[in-house]
Amino acid sequence: MAARIIDGKAIAATVRGEVAEGVRAFAAAHGRPPGLALVRVGDDEASAWYVRSKHKAATEVGLRAEEHALPAGAGTEVVLALVERLNADDATDGILVQLPLPSGIDERRILEAIDPAKDVDGLHPINLGKLVENRPDRLTAPTPMGVMRLIREAGCDLRGRKAVVIGRSALVGKPMALLLLHADATVTVCHTRTADLAAEVRAADVVVSAAGSIGLVRGAWIKPGACVIDVGLTRGPDGKLHGDVEFAAAAERAGAITPVPGGVGPMTIAALLENALRAARMRRS
Ligand code: NAD
Repeated sequence: MAARIIDGKAIAATVRGEVAEGVRAFAAAHGRPPGLALVRVGDDEASAWYVRSKHKAATEVGLRAEEHALPAGAGTEVVLALVERLNADDATDGILVQLPLPSGIDERRILEAIDPAKDVDGLHPINLGKLVENRPDRLTAPTPMGVMRLIREAGCDLRGRKAVVIGRSALVGKPMALLLLHADATVTVCHTRTADLAAEVRAADVVVSAAGSIGLVRGAWIKPGACVIDVGLTRGPDGKLHGDVEFAAAAERAGAITPVPGGVGPMTIAALLENALRAARMRRS
């Protein structure tokens, strides 16, 4: 295998250590640690697992994390009332509403109700607009922020390089493309209507795949020496989690590559913790 394997777990551990230090300094200066509210609606197993993991990770770095679980039948107004209460609570610096919300709840209204200064998932239109403008006073979605850190730690160049992002969601693909653009890469965004995905990937120095389609990116497409970041996380028929990239074949050609699991996943949570600390600092400055 030629590629360096980018160890997301190790890099995430470093980031969590940095956050823990920042949290200690914040608490010393302000008499309390930053507060993160995690809102979950309904009893979706995967959502419950994600919220538990985020809660545990937040507590480990010293954040004051609290979970708010509402029943599936809560309705939009009840969720909005909780968000308003958290917006008004001075000790709550970050608010995360775990997605997807149960059908019947107006996701857009909920996300737009979150105070942009507390929007640790970076999905409020104000934060998306600030991302377009590359303003420093913004909160940006944890997964693409985590990917940027992985690329940096792996020593992959971005300036003037060709980056291909597969996927155009508001949560991953679009913010990812903008962050790469702000780092001076020449960015192409691919999606289900892209005419020749193979040709786009073959030309890329950096590939970030966030499609959620097992084995979509063939190893043979990877340009020798390219940096390959696999965001995809899909449970296969074998019951295991798989990425979008044909890992073994891609690793023969890539310069650096993330595994699944153990690549982007741990960084998503670490970047969320960073956002909670960042929100707390920005609210106090
Ligand atoms: P999404 O379904 O909202 O978006 C997927 C995007 O991929 C779409 O824009 C679609 O056009 C594109 N796409 C799908 N199939 C394609 C194909 N065959 N060819 C080209 N483009 C294709 O999903 P999302 O929320 O953006 O998440 C994407 C993937 O990343 C999922 O597997 C998700 O589980 C994973 N994810 C992982 C983490 C993590 O922490 N590791 C975090 C967020 C998302």
